[in-house]
Amino acid sequence: MFYFDAHCHLLPRKQFIKASNARINYFICNATHPQNWHKLLDIASTLPGIYPCIGIHPWYIADLKSDWQIKMQLLFDKYPHLMVGEIGLDTTRPNLARQAEVFEFCLKTALKYHRAVHIHGHESWSLITDILKCYPGLTCLFHRFSGTASQAKQLSAITNAYFSLMSVRPARYLPAERILVESDSPDGLHKPARVIELAERIGLDWAQLDANFCRFLGETLPMKGDAPHHFLTMQDEPISPQTENPTAQTFSDKHSQPIDSEATK
Ligand SMILES: [Zn+2]
Repeated sequence: MFYFDAHCHLLPRKQFIKASNARINYFICNATHPQNWHKLLDIASTLPGIYPCIGIHPWYIADLKSDWQIKMQLLFDKYPHLMVGEIGLDTTRPNLARQAEVFEFCLKTALKYHRAVHIHGHESWSLITDILKCYPGLTCLFHRFSGTASQAKQLSAITNAYFSLMSVRPARYLPAERILVESDSPDGLHKPARVIELAERIGLDWAQLDANFCRFLGETLPMKGDAPHHFLTMQDEPISPQTENPTAQTFSDKHSQPIDSEATK
């Protein structure tokens, strides 16, 4: 058995190491603005267990430079283990039309490169469902999901949907094999290690969660050997999304190595 955090953000290196010492060995980590993309890729290239995602968060659309789309595509050309996120819509924030434009470009990129998408949908699940209907078949992780049972059902009908939770209620109506847990650190539960008590509070079984995590990653990432112990390195050979045929993998204790704090100083 192993522990993971299905959604967090760029943290200082020592916080990843601290979380690893608290038994969280895998992190799906989202860089939400081009300014952070390379910082995350640098950390992911030197610490094991970090699965990086790059995107434009709907809160950070205001000051984008004109070349962000080209930069994004270049990174997806280069890194076969990169996912898309955090992206989405937020009706409590300004400029929804521009949010949608940015969101849709990122969805097109995910389709083109066959990558999973990590979606922020605060108060906006219906709008998001309408847009996702134009991009059917994407593998999506709906982060901090707090929608209704019928919204979850609709999202599941048009995407390969996983729901990452930070609260108890949605677990009552979501299928157990589609649930993940997250900290949304540094803003959410503050420490990735708190996902362990969160899962306990919800009454989730880690064997089931681990199987869900492996299946989710394996559905879009090119896994090597005993996946998902793979982590992004600068030496990775780019793999064409057209020729790749990813398969879900499972793994056991022996593949769940803690980050070696000495080696990463
Ligand atoms: Zn987040």
